[in-house]
Amino acid sequence: MAMTLRGVALLLLPSMVLAAAPAVDMAYTGGGRAACDESVLLQVKQQKHSEQCINVSIEIYPYGTKQESKWGTSYTGWETCIGFEQSPIDICTRDTRVQHGAPLNQDYASATGLYVENNGHNLKVKGDFGSVIIGGEKFEAKQFHFHSPGEHQIDGHLSVAEMHIVNLNENGTAAAVVGVLFKLGQKNMCLETVLAANMPRAGCKTFIGDLDLRCFGTQLKGPYWSYQGSLTTPPCSEIVKWNVLKRHATISQGQLKVLAQRFSFALGNNRDVQKLYHRSVTLTVPVY
Ligand SMILES: [Zn+2]
Repeated sequence: MAMTLRGVALLLLPSMVLAAAPAVDMAYTGGGRAACDESVLLQVKQQKHSEQCINVSIEIYPYGTKQESKWGTSYTGWETCIGFEQSPIDICTRDTRVQHGAPLNQDYASATGLYVENNGHNLKVKGDFGSVIIGGEKFEAKQFHFHSPGEHQIDGHLSVAEMHIVNLNENGTAAAVVGVLFKLGQKNMCLETVLAANMPRAGCKTFIGDLDLRCFGTQLKGPYWSYQGSLTTPPCSEIVKWNVLKRHATISQGQLKVLAQRFSFALGNNRDVQKLYHRSVTLTVPVY
């Protein structure tokens, strides 16, 4: 749900929310008028790693405090956040249904002309990254973003970071999100383009060039957990077919630091795990 800086300011007026909001660099130079000023846009060169502060909406959510558990009860329009199919969850491997079958049916590809943008609560890269077919339905990959620490837990264990590849169906009514979990280790070369860039301030974006999600082939071709869930940010719409990849990717300490550079690292930007209720989780083990 995109909203303007002005909209967020109104939304977060209750003092408790302001206190809970992640630290955001308020040196936001875009402003409501500049965001709509095409002449400004045309004047900006697409120079690699240079920061642009236009056309990036700021969305701030209270993480890591009691206020986070009140998303569904204290905010108009966020009522779904207390639904029965919420995400993320703790995946209890002992209780998952195991099936052998086809690998994740993705057809990811290289995307060009990309920016990494800071929307105030995470780093996001928008683009046309290819598609994935889930349950016979095609979903187009439109963006990926990061949470640090991760959001899904595996037997109570939280990853240091998690990347969400957001895929939308044709009319935008449903999503299939592919989650990549990270563990500390070697530098992740797939993300080097993103994380080597000068990190944009909140409301800004930095040009990074090209990126190919097939770089995560090791993870994409491996086993994955799937279940029916929700967006992990408000309005928490329960429209997501989740696919959490079992094989962790590595990320270096330096890269992890970059992820948290523009946010409050103490609080993180990960939602707490939600109850499973009636749902079940399936682990698909690919057969080649
Ligand atoms: Zn996410």
